[in-house]
Amino acid sequence: MRLYNTLSRSIEKFKPLNPSLVTLYTCGPTVYDYTHLGHMRKYTMDDVLKRTLIYLGYHVKHVMNITDVGHLTGDDDTGEDKLEKGAKKQQKTVWEVARFYTDFFSKTMKALNITPPDITCRATDHIPQMIKLIQTLEINGHTYQTKEAVYFDVTTFPNYGRLSKQKLTEKLSGVRAEVRVDPQKKHPADFALWFKSVGRFKDHSMHWESPWGDGFPGWHIECSAMSMAYLGESIDIHTGGVDHIGVHHENEIAQSESASGKPFVHYWVHHAFLNVKNEKMSKSKDNFFTIEDVQKKGIDPLSLRLLFMQTHYRQEMNFSWKAAKAANDAFRKLQDTRGGLAAEFKNLATEAPDQTSVPYKTSFQQALANDLQTPKAIATVWEMLKSPLDSAEKLKLLDDFDQVLGLKLKTTKETEIPKKVLQLAKDRQYAKNNNNFALADALRKEIESQGYKIEDTHGVYKIRKK
Ligand code: AMP
Ligand code: ZN
Repeated sequence: MRLYNTLSRSIEKFKPLNPSLVTLYTCGPTVYDYTHLGHMRKYTMDDVLKRTLIYLGYHVKHVMNITDVGHLTGDDDTGEDKLEKGAKKQQKTVWEVARFYTDFFSKTMKALNITPPDITCRATDHIPQMIKLIQTLEINGHTYQTKEAVYFDVTTFPNYGRLSKQKLTEKLSGVRAEVRVDPQKKHPADFALWFKSVGRFKDHSMHWESPWGDGFPGWHIECSAMSMAYLGESIDIHTGGVDHIGVHHENEIAQSESASGKPFVHYWVHHAFLNVKNEKMSKSKDNFFTIEDVQKKGIDPLSLRLLFMQTHYRQEMNFSWKAAKAANDAFRKLQDTRGGLAAEFKNLATEAPDQTSVPYKTSFQQALANDLQTPKAIATVWEMLKSPLDSAEKLKLLDDFDQVLGLKLKTTKETEIPKKVLQLAKDRQYAKNNNNFALADALRKEIESQGYKIEDTHGVYKIRKK
């Protein structure tokens, strides 16, 4: 397996820390609004990564967080807590908002057949782990306190900026004036580990006791705390959208490595955006569609997997209903083909000849193993289906590929072939075997008059609906 690593900006050979178990952490959603197609693209491609690893023989332990506190509208500690904002807008409690949108997220993931992580963990259930991590950082001399918050002092971490390739001096000059909302904050890139229930956060409805007073955690610390709690101090792969490179993931690295003294993540995998008219699909731009919009248009949510896989995960992609409908048609075609193959295979008169399907399997596997070249993998699926391979082999391969594609093709109903047609086909085969070609021909015509076609390849007959 080869994977693009944002740390090195290159495709690297994937070598897990422990060859028998790959550790994978995914930055989960902030549950204050609807899960949209942009999220769906990202989590589908995470799922493809995980399914590929499993397909290639790895065991994977996968953890994903749910952000239900501390994520401010500005990633740089500016603005309001997104959950509080959502609650005010919808006149609900923050807990109700978190629950509603977590359920919506889960429902969406299920509709897309996204394998649930081994552990899904909420930030609000891990406050003690976060406090402990902040205490370690405090002991190691990486923090300072102001009246409003406990901050991570980025100048104590010489590697700050390694992921985004940004120097601290550049960060300093590029920063907006309002970032210094806390006048006691020393460096604009310093980030809050713990916000105190004072000033702008006096009325924050989620708050807990801590060594630094009543308050709530900053956003970044949750991923480090939960990743370390469930996967250990060093992990193999951490994923997220490209928007996380500059701040969130840079901060995760700084705090994790300052606490443990070990490399936090070996491979950083970042997903490109799903856009609408070249603009990121997002809650704030109000240009988003949800799974319900998709269903209302008569599009099967599973077909979105096909839509997303047709573009490489590191390439931006524009969403359009036209493309979604085309993916839906392609998905239906795959379903029909699988249904037809399953019916034919059941009705094969002789054992399937031993034909080689190896080149297709190799091409599919190689495409995925090469930094998840899903467009190439999908092209291989179509090539294989159009090839002269016999039905039994095609069916086997399609089901094998679907372990990664996740299109649930196996649940597709077999094409029903009426008993009468099956009998006619058997009689025809018998006639042929006895060199009674005139009768065989007549039976073929009768089969055709029933709306079916019969084809012979390599001594095996196949029945298809016309
Ligand atoms: P959020 O709930 O906004 O924290 O987002 C959860 C994940 O979805 C993050 O990794 C984001 O980068 C990703 N994401 C949000 N919007 C999009 C989009 N339009 N395209 C792709 N990924 C997105
Ligand atoms: Zn995260």
